[in-house]
Order: sequence, then structure tokens, then C-alpha cells
Amino acid sequence: MKRRFYLCLLLLLGLFQHGYSQFAAIDNYRKYFAVGKYNGADVAIIREYASQKKQFFIAVGFDDLKTYVIPAGMILPAPKDWDDILASYSSTPYVRAINNAKKQSLPLQDAGIQHGDSKEKGIALTIDLCPSHKALDRVIFTSIVKEFHKFKQPEPIGISITGKFLHSHAQDIDWLKKMANSGAIEIVWINHTYNHNYDPKLPLAHNFLLETGTNLDSEILLLEKSLLENEIVFSPFFRFPGLVSDSQLVDRVTDYGLIPIGSDAWLAKGQNANNGDIVLIHGNGNEPIGVKDFLSLLKKQKDAILNKQWLLYDLREDIEQEFDK
Ligand SMILES: [Zn+2]
Repeated sequence: MKRRFYLCLLLLLGLFQHGYSQFAAIDNYRKYFAVGKYNGADVAIIREYASQKKQFFIAVGFDDLKTYVIPAGMILPAPKDWDDILASYSSTPYVRAINNAKKQSLPLQDAGIQHGDSKEKGIALTIDLCPSHKALDRVIFTSIVKEFHKFKQPEPIGISITGKFLHSHAQDIDWLKKMANSGAIEIVWINHTYNHNYDPKLPLAHNFLLETGTNLDSEILLLEKSLLENEIVFSPFFRFPGLVSDSQLVDRVTDYGLIPIGSDAWLAKGQNANNGDIVLIHGNGNEPIGVKDFLSLLKKQKDAILNKQWLLYDLREDIEQEFDK
């Protein structure tokens, strides 16, 4: 009884604190692992931070893979080691997806989850925004909105974002946020690291995140912090720069509570998009062939789209369905 009273008091305090923005300047952003209940569902808390002298948590739903920014006081966290969380919640879609990604960690390129639910009619689209001096290919988004407008629902689009693109393309990011706020699209933000370093002189096995001296902590956490300060809540997904990794790196990334996502249809490489595929194109101005291929794909599927036989899937639902069996 006493415990219940204490919980109510905490929740009430949390409600009073809710007037503060969780997106102002952020301090002490760090990994923090706990479990708790939020909106009646089990969540894994994976980060904590302070903003305007208030404490906040980032949590991921074990079942829906959605991310929540929760002010302290709105949840009662039970701290737990990450390995304990993996063991205790091993049957949930979130942990099953992480374990599946770990199992596919051996290839030097395209590790992680490459495929959603094959019974689907359509694809999960992911657009990589690696560092670039060119502008966002807005035509990808406007074409999607045009083809799917009849359904009057936000079309889900995965965007793998880098810190360098975020900070050098303020107008494009504002434009994307406005598109999302208007209800035309729903963006699933995927961590593509802060710097996305690449050295054309190095072999793949020592390139991208495998380059000596890479600071994984800042590559992952600095990007998340920058996104939050830009009022963007990220998903639990991660895409390796260049799709390059080794099994040790996959383990280190999943230890942040993130799910590595590969692709089984990189359009610019001539790979076809079949049902349930996680499709990859670049929208940073550097891969016009991929954009052209995607626009042709939209054209080819025009009738199927109108008949609801070819849809865009939300990566979170796609993976939840795949691992909720
Ligand atoms: Zn990239």
C-alpha cells in the first residue's frame, strides 16, 4: 500500500515536471540500463541525461520497439545489467531482434538484420544520409507522398542519419521535420554514427568504424545527443557506415541497446526489391542511380500501390512481426 502511494506521488511529481522541454541543451548523456513500466508496457531504459537540471530517460518498448523520452518521476526504473536484461526478456521482439543481429555478425559487409517479414506486400525503405556537401534528394519524399496520398496516413520511412549531415543541412532537416509534423510521413531515425569516417586508401577490414582510433562511444552517443537537441527522437536501430563491421563490433554496438540493420536490396548495386526487403538508397545527393531506381520502382508499383498490394512498412513493426513468433 505504502509502495503504491509512493508510486502515485512520483507520477504526480513527474506530471508537474512535464512542462519542461526534454529537448533543450543536454548534459551527462550516457548509457544507463534498467527496466520499468511505461504506459502499462514493459520498457528497457537504455540512456539517461540531464536537461534544464531535470533528469530524463530514453526507453525502448520490448514489444513495440518504440522509443520514449521519459522524465524522471514518470517511471520507476529498476537498474539491471544489460546482460541480465537480455536474459530476462529473451522472448520479446526487441531482445530477439538483437540476438538475431548478433548471429549475423560474421560478414565484413552487411551484418545485422537484412530482412523483415516476407509475408508482407511491400518493403521497408531506408535512406542513408552519410556526410555530403550536396542537398537532400527531396524528390524521394515528395514522390512517396504523391503516390501514397490516397491513403491519408503518414508513410513510414527509415532515415539513417549522421551527425555531419545533421549539422550541415539545417534547412533539409527542418523540411523533413515539417513533412513529418504535417502527417505526410513518419520518420524512423536510424543511428548512422556522428562522423561516418571513411578513408579511400584503407582496406575495408580497417575502414569506417573498424579504423584504428575510432571512438565508438562518441560516434553513437554524440549523434543521439545531437538528435535530441534537434527535437528528434531516434529509434533503436543502427546502420554501420559502409555496412562494414566485424563480430566484435556488432557485439559492442548491441551493448548500447541498438539493433544493427543491414539491407538485402541496395538498389544502386542492382539488387532487386522483393516483398519484406529492407531497401537501401542514399538520399544525400551522392547516389543519383539509387534515387532513379527507387522512383522507377514507385512507377512500376503504381497500380499495386493504389490497390494496397504494395506498401511501405514501418521498420519497427516489420521487425516486431518478424521476431514476435
Ligand atoms: Zn553511410
